[in-house]
Parts: sequence; structure tokens; C-alpha cells
Amino acid sequence: MKKYITVFPFIHINIKDNNTLFYNTLSRSNAVFTNNDAIAQIAKKLEESNLTCMVEEEQINVLKQNNFFKILLLNNFGYYVDAEKLPVPPFTTRCIDVNDTRLVTNFKNHEYLLENVRELTFYLNNFASAKNQTKVRKAHYQFLFPVYDEEKKELNLKEIISIIKVIGNHQININITGGNILEYSNFYELINELNNCRHNVFYYFHYLDLVNSDNNKLLSAISQKTIKVILVDFPFELKEFVKWNEIIKQDGVRIEFIVENEEQITEAEQIISEFAINDHMFRPYYNGENIKFFKENVFVSERDIIEVKESLFDLATKKISNPSFFGKLIFNTDGNIFTSFNFPAIGNINNLNLKNLIFELLEDENSIWRVNKTIVEPCNNCIYNLLCPPISNYEYLINKHNLCNVK
Ligand code: SF4
Repeated sequence: MKKYITVFPFIHINIKDNNTLFYNTLSRSNAVFTNNDAIAQIAKKLEESNLTCMVEEEQINVLKQNNFFKILLLNNFGYYVDAEKLPVPPFTTRCIDVNDTRLVTNFKNHEYLLENVRELTFYLNNFASAKNQTKVRKAHYQFLFPVYDEEKKELNLKEIISIIKVIGNHQININITGGNILEYSNFYELINELNNCRHNVFYYFHYLDLVNSDNNKLLSAISQKTIKVILVDFPFELKEFVKWNEIIKQDGVRIEFIVENEEQITEAEQIISEFAINDHMFRPYYNGENIKFFKENVFVSERDIIEVKESLFDLATKKISNPSFFGKLIFNTDGNIFTSFNFPAIGNINNLNLKNLIFELLEDENSIWRVNKTIVEPCNNCIYNLLCPPISNYEYLINKHNLCNVK
């Protein structure tokens, strides 16, 4: 007897060759069928015919051998029904079709172009207290970290404020970093401005930044509503870190440890315990020689990927953009604008037309805002490409997209 199979609209199906993933975006339950032509064929049919298809007697037997009907019901992927009991096929409406090309058109809508901006990072200066670390590490190519240059430079305050004003009312993240931002000539004026804005403001300090008593006064002028991030790297200097003792007890303070190996993780854990640090995170730093450390701590496994909870909307977003970089702009001390320091500047603050710049980033399929794992090799041929973490600076530095032990 023929049957109709229907899959619910919140199920994500990904088929590559004869491998198929079914992923329930509500419960996270999933099923993977590898080297299974029969299931891949059914999955394709479901995708092509609006999530409902009819299967013949012969196919039903093959599906039964694969436990497909049980898996369908147990994971709440969908249901099946005898075809003769229904006069017409079951009807399903998709909530979001991740393959719908109109999604790209929507974010290019001119009226709302500026709403694509989600994060602005300003490098106020390039004179860092952690001069030695920034010279050796160049960690700003991997994540937010101070820069140091021999020739001292500062970003103009008026220009920073004018960019923030152009953004208008929609709420974004603003990262303030340097150099040592406490040494910025107009730091008081800047914090006065940012204390009263409606954005989420993050100030980045290196733990070696508290160089004189005035620094503490500047810190206390920063609104409690903002987040202070204190970066700690190794070798660790206890006598410098204890200067932050009062601050790390406050709300809205996060400590980020820059780690290159297991020993540094252990040392960081001791510091966390000794200072009773609540909010902290580890930032693995790739030094060109610690790929083993990355394989053990950064590369993802199938299990890591499947455990992440992604909504249908998240998956659609990852299909058309790269959430690691999308909507993010970085301004260096020269006023040059970057999407990541691993790519050339895309403009300068002095002659900036923000709407045009955003439009070009959206229009260009190869822009870092848009390139994602459904496009690049070998991820474009992997059933996990929408569930997997998006491409980050690590992939560009390590020079491979598949930081995983799957492919
Ligand atoms: S990194 Fe690429 S190849 Fe590896 S699991 Fe993710 S999508 Fe697949």
C-alpha cells in the first residue's frame, strides 16, 4: 500500500551525495544516514515537493529496513499515512526556506541598509602597555586584542562620534580598544558620550594597562552599564594583575585568557580560582606551531556540532551570510576600515559613505560578510555545513575551512 510521508516545516534536511542529515530545530534531535542512497532519494523528493511525498510499496520495504518510519516518529521529524486514506496529499507550509534566494534581496533593501550594522570596533590608539606581547603575538588578526606600533597614532574623537551618530537608533555593539585606551587623549569625552548612548559598549583593556593612579579615576568614570573586558596573556605577572583586584569583583567585568597550550589553561584556571573570577573565557591563540593544541581544543567533532542549538532562522542566516563577520566593521588608528585584519582595508573614515560601503559588502558574494560554509570547500559538500560554527579568523590564518575531525 502506498504511503504519504510528510516532514514538519521546522526540520532541516541536508543531503550531500548519498549522506543525509535530518535535524529537528526545536528539539535538536537528529538522524544521520551515511552512504544510504534510498534515504537520500526520499529526502531529495521531500525537499523538492514541499516536504510531502508519496512512496511506493517497494520503497516502503527499503525504508522499513532502515528503520526510517520509527526514526521519523521518534524524533518528531514528521509522520506517514496510508495514501488511500487521504483524498489529497498532506499540505505543509514552510516557516523559512533556507534555500530561498529572496532572503539575500531582503537585507539589501536600501531603506534598512544601516540596520545590517551590528558591531563597530574602534582602535583608539596604538601605544600599548603590553608592547612586548602585541609585538610578538599580533593576536588582533585572530580576535580583539591591542595593537602596538612604533609611530604613535590616535583615532579622531569627532570621527568616532559622527560614525556612531550615522548608525541612528538601532542598538549595536561598540568595542573600544587600543593600544592602551586609558592613554587616549580624549578618553573622558569619549566615555561621557558612550555612557549616555543606547548601544552595548565594551571596553577592552590589557591587564598591564593600569600604569598610573590616574587610570583608576578614568575607569571609575565608565558607566556600570557597560562591559569591561580584561585581557590576560602569558607569561603572567601577578603583581600587575592584583592592581585590578577591586575591578574584577564588579558586575560587568569579563576576563579573557589568551592561551596557546594546555599549561596556560591550567595556569589560567588557578588564577580564576584564586581571584574567584566569575565571568571568564579562553581565547585560543594560534602561534603557527600549536596546531595539535587547536586540534584538541578548537576543532569540532560531529558531536560538538550536533549539540549546538540552531533555530531555522539561524540556519537561514548562515546560508546567506557569515555571522562571525556579518555587520561588523573595524576602524584602526589611521581611520582605515576593515572587516577583519586578515583582509585589506575597504575604506577610510575620512571619505566614508556608510550606506554605499554596506551595500557593496552585501552585493559582493565574495565579501567576508557573505562567504560561508555552504560555499567553500570541502564544507560545501558536508551535511553539517549549516550547523557547524561559521568561518572565523582562525580558518583564514590556518588556511583551511574544515577545522574539524569530520572531513
Ligand atoms: S568544518 Fe566543514 S567539513 Fe568540517 S564538519 Fe564543519 S562543515 Fe563539515
